[in-house]
Amino acid sequence: MNAHAPLPRPETGCEIRQERGQRAVFCGLTGIVWLHRKIQDAFFLVVGSRTCAHLIQSAAGVMIFAEPRFATAIIDERDLAGLADANEELDRVVRRLIERRPDIRLLFLVGSCPSEVIKLDLAQAARRLTRTFHPEVRVLSYSGSGIETTFTQGEDACLAALVPEMSRAAASAAPSLLVVGALADVVEDQFARLFADLGLAEVAFLPARRAGQLPAIGANTRILLAQPFLAETARVLEARGATRIAAPFPLGAEGTTGWLKAAADAFDVPAERFERVTAPGRARAAVALDLHRERLEGRRVFLFPDSQLELPLARFLSREMGAALVEVGTPYLHRQHLAPELALLPAGTRIVEGQDLDAQMDRCRAAQPDLTVCGLGLANPLEAEGLATKWSIELLFTPVQGYDQAGDLAELFARPLKRRARLEV
Ligand code: SF4
Repeated sequence: MNAHAPLPRPETGCEIRQERGQRAVFCGLTGIVWLHRKIQDAFFLVVGSRTCAHLIQSAAGVMIFAEPRFATAIIDERDLAGLADANEELDRVVRRLIERRPDIRLLFLVGSCPSEVIKLDLAQAARRLTRTFHPEVRVLSYSGSGIETTFTQGEDACLAALVPEMSRAAASAAPSLLVVGALADVVEDQFARLFADLGLAEVAFLPARRAGQLPAIGANTRILLAQPFLAETARVLEARGATRIAAPFPLGAEGTTGWLKAAADAFDVPAERFERVTAPGRARAAVALDLHRERLEGRRVFLFPDSQLELPLARFLSREMGAALVEVGTPYLHRQHLAPELALLPAGTRIVEGQDLDAQMDRCRAAQPDLTVCGLGLANPLEAEGLATKWSIELLFTPVQGYDQAGDLAELFARPLKRRARLEV
């Protein structure tokens, strides 16, 4: 089969293609930068190389913490050559860390390319260390390696590792909603208030802010994904009996309304109550979006595959800001989770799953879009060629979900265009 052939997708009007080739995306270690802020008593210990340490340091460099909750246990040449017992060294590092930081309740051993190369079994190490430090500290493991994960898949792997730790809800438990995906605390609080106003009594978030607050899960749990990159987490939650609520993602006013409405319908919230509760947020978002529409309307946007947020972002840019979509790349396309987004994209939208970097760069250069959304590595060369770019990583570091952040989301895209307009003047 031709690797670039469009796949027939009669259920959407989009033209979906798959590409394979050289990729330019961050590895899953990057997720630690936002996850360590979210789970307040967790610590992320990357078992990796100096390269891994540099990646995290520079990705997190924008926010300096007095006591960061992540570090790297460096695998050096002796470990790689099999001259030292890596497990013994790891145990020593963990013991020192836990003695120094008694506030840690949950420790993640995060695998990397080097730990995979030497086949260090971190799952087994986590079980051994849990036995040693239980009950004060639980030790879990997941992989953030660039061989296995891209950028946002680190969060997916981390949350999936938490699921076996969740207790089983009683069969008679009241129906509950579990919102899945790390959201900034301010956004989580806004959504918690909206769900309470809608009359949903049992609402929990994964990840919880503290390690000991993991909610129970069972057949009466409905899960609502807050992020589009949580395929594995959703799979293991469903395997525990939970049911996923199909919904668009809460980016922009329309996405937020669709997302809340899907939850409201699943819990039989009357339409009148839904309208009343969401009207103020919708009105605030409409005012905020108006401020940026002129800058984005009619602008041609090219999205490189990076964060897996590309489809919801493209839907927002096109439907709420009037932008034209040249190409929408995504590292992976989960057709079930993204079905409500695919249905909202304009007919004929070119979606490219995977990456063949050179071919994609050629298409981007040929199209000369007004705005290119891409990873850090591509932004500088494209800027040097005269194209305006937006770093996709910013969309993970900035609170962008919900009604009150819709204006900020639009501004993130409007800003590079404004800057370029000033430079041209
Ligand atoms: Fe590089 Fe792999 Fe370490 Fe990521 S995990 S920083 S890709 S060596």
